[in-house]
Amino acid sequence: TKYVYFFGGGQADGNGRMKDTLGGKGAGLAEMTNAGLPVPPGFTIQTESCREYMRGQLNPQMDAEMHAALERLERMQGQKLGAGDNPLLVSVRSGAKFSMPGMMDTILNLGLNDNAVEALAKRSNNPRFAYDSYRRLIQMFGDVVLDIPKKKFEHIFDSVKEREKAHYDYELQPAALKDIIAEYKKLVKKETGKEFPQNPLEQLSAARDAVFRSWQNERAKTYRRINHIDDWLGTAVNVQAMVFGNLGDNSGTGVGFTRNPATGERIFFGEYLMNAQGEDVVSGVRTPMPISELEKAMPKVYDQLRTITWKMEKHYRDMQDFEFTIQDGKLYMLQTRNGKRTGLAAVRVAIDMVREGLITQEEAIFRVEPNQLYDFLVPRLDEKGAKVEVLATGLPASPGAAVGQIVFTAEDAVKHHHKGDYTSIILVRGETTPEDIGGMEVASGILTSRGGMTSHAAVVTRGMGKCCVAGAGECTVDENRKELRVKGKTFRQGDWISLDGTTGRVIEGKLKTIPAQPDDPDLVRFMGWADPVRKLRIRANADVPRDAKQARLFGAEGIGLCRTEHMFFAEGRIEHVRAMILAHTEQERRAALKHLLPMQRQDFIGLFKSMESLPVTIRLLDPPLHEFLPQREELLVEIQHLEDTKPRSPKLKELRVLLARVQELHEVNPMLGLRGCRLGIAFPEITEMQARAILEAAVNVKNHGGDPHLEIMIPLIGSIEEMRNQSAVVKRIAAQVFKEKGTTVDFMVGTMIELPRAALTADQIAEEAEFFSFGTNDLTQTTFGISRDDINHFLPAYLKAGIFKQDPFATLDQAGVGSLVKTAVAKGRNTRPTLKVGICGEHGGDPESVKFCHKIGLNYVSCSPFRLLTARLAAAQAAL
Ligand code: ADP
Ligand code: MG
Ligand code: MG
Repeated sequence: TKYVYFFGGGQADGNGRMKDTLGGKGAGLAEMTNAGLPVPPGFTIQTESCREYMRGQLNPQMDAEMHAALERLERMQGQKLGAGDNPLLVSVRSGAKFSMPGMMDTILNLGLNDNAVEALAKRSNNPRFAYDSYRRLIQMFGDVVLDIPKKKFEHIFDSVKEREKAHYDYELQPAALKDIIAEYKKLVKKETGKEFPQNPLEQLSAARDAVFRSWQNERAKTYRRINHIDDWLGTAVNVQAMVFGNLGDNSGTGVGFTRNPATGERIFFGEYLMNAQGEDVVSGVRTPMPISELEKAMPKVYDQLRTITWKMEKHYRDMQDFEFTIQDGKLYMLQTRNGKRTGLAAVRVAIDMVREGLITQEEAIFRVEPNQLYDFLVPRLDEKGAKVEVLATGLPASPGAAVGQIVFTAEDAVKHHHKGDYTSIILVRGETTPEDIGGMEVASGILTSRGGMTSHAAVVTRGMGKCCVAGAGECTVDENRKELRVKGKTFRQGDWISLDGTTGRVIEGKLKTIPAQPDDPDLVRFMGWADPVRKLRIRANADVPRDAKQARLFGAEGIGLCRTEHMFFAEGRIEHVRAMILAHTEQERRAALKHLLPMQRQDFIGLFKSMESLPVTIRLLDPPLHEFLPQREELLVEIQHLEDTKPRSPKLKELRVLLARVQELHEVNPMLGLRGCRLGIAFPEITEMQARAILEAAVNVKNHGGDPHLEIMIPLIGSIEEMRNQSAVVKRIAAQVFKEKGTTVDFMVGTMIELPRAALTADQIAEEAEFFSFGTNDLTQTTFGISRDDINHFLPAYLKAGIFKQDPFATLDQAGVGSLVKTAVAKGRNTRPTLKVGICGEHGGDPESVKFCHKIGLNYVSCSPFRLLTARLAAAQAAL
């Protein structure tokens, strides 16, 4: 194994393709060196050493190679590390294969000690610079290598600054800096029991090992988990000769992008600070200057920087994010990488680069992460110039932004919505339940203190395309007192907050927002490249005409899941639904269903009309009936209250009946109880009513010149017998309706595969079912035996322990659930070769899962309207 790769003097051992070995930074430094760009020389210790370090078996050969490389560097520079009258100083920088901004550690000015600092002061004729560099080293070394809390250094620094009445760091004079150094050294001695190491080689080895360790710090681990980066990759270590931006007013340091990372516009974009080093630019201590100022201040350097960065962009054929330092008027490049960007910018850059001839259309399709397209569909917070006080960070459950006045109950949300005294409402709950739907409808955003990425609030808001921050545990939501308490502050009804569902931030006060841009011409053009490529059809989960229209706007080619129960929750219906549930006899039940029939029919007419001749899959009633009734606890309170105040009120009697029924319907485990096709089997009249509403609607639309394509779907089938039973009801009603109306329409009857038994007996079920749709939410639930509403109690522990790589409700578990899906597809098509197969769980909008669906040959995926763009792009990428 070659452990150490040298770069310098126009030549490097490595190159830009060696990211696995050299990390992104090391590969970039090598590539820039080879391209003849002004890069300070140095060497990269490769990632294998980090892996060896993690295994506790560092190879001594690495150490030997490192020392040899150091000597080569010293010869090249004509300097010695931390010694002589012209001491060499180096930076020790981490750099993994995937960029993990700010997650790991860097040490600058390494090699300085009590002697070298004097030599540096003399040599540079600039004592202020020398002592400033030394104090920076002790501070960074103390923090990164010796684990001394940063705060303790900052405390010393700030008190000297105060004593000296210095406003900016660079105003500190050599004497003051010397005081700081003396204090720092005392701190090191006190905290570690040892002196700050004076031996430069000792500093170097310790710093290198600390960078290896920083791969394992909590920040880095969390970052990797969120971004699905393998824990075993390890980081490389770059040791590089220092160049100094803190040498005076003719020196400086900066960062930039070859294009605007927020909008994608082709403008040189960046910031810099004169007389500064390293992270000063991003630390917020001094306000950096826009790069355009550099053009005026140092036109030559500016031109050179522009030329170099354009060249790098052309070379890498992607937007670059770079770091540079100016030492005494001379420019040095310190880093370059493909720049992170927003979805808006990603699309814009991809299109521009095709136009500029830098990349092909096919490459462009891969330049945008499917999830990033969400940015076009949701509003964003406008943080420019705003004061952003983050109160808490929860889960980014549903992206976008919402700014509004808080309320604590769904009723209050509806009330203020109707009253119109709140222009925008944010519903704040411990967690939401189906009963809150009305409030969620009128709210601009939802905040919950409990629940995960698949909690009710998260799933429903994602479906609505509404911003949601879920599980913000730092928030205490006191629903009784109608208070939100967080960070020692109390917010009451009517107070303004801002939510960022893209990052999970809860922000105090009223920020501005920038609206969504789904008809952005760049986006339309980009999707015009992606769509023809994909094989999968993309459908939407939509329950009402409004969602259906939205879905078509976002490119849906049909409805893959219409959940009829959502129609039951609509205003003015719940009483009839309750009457149906409370009915003691079939007759009573049929009377209640009669009221529901015209309403449902009307819904379906609307749906069929808005989808024209595109397929519409309608699922019959699925949830347990108790979901339509008030909660037992609430009833008890209300009854108690009436007993105390109006014991003779007829309402009391009603409530008691309701309570009795609620108790009757109570199930220990409703998810596995009376729901899905079991409802229709126990109460065939419900299936009859729904089938009639669907088919009458279809006939009606057809008679008005429409061309509806309907697929009636029976939920939660576990056996062919269940399927036969419900299919027969639907077909019987169809025959009746067609006879009554004198018109027929084509329709299919199929099923959701959401129980393992259904998947395993799919060959039998396909004898009756004309299509399958995988309900992967339930299938995941039933395969793992994990309730998705309860997974959050242990999901964090599972992720931390590496038992789950990701939430199986967010990304399809290909090994288990996916294997059932594959089996079912094969068995189903074996029986019925023309079987149409799709997926309609949350996974239908997850890029990884979409790719899987493509691979196993599904016909379509269905997802919420706001995931459509993502699914379309993921399907295109899968097909290439
Ligand atoms: P990160 O990966 O967090 O950006 P870096 O290793 O890039 O960390 O370094 C942190 C800062 O130190 C950057 O601003 C970088 O430009 C600066 N820096 C790193 N090495 C040198 C060097 N040899 N000379 C001058 N500045 C350096
Ligand atoms: Mg950097
Ligand atoms: Mg289901």
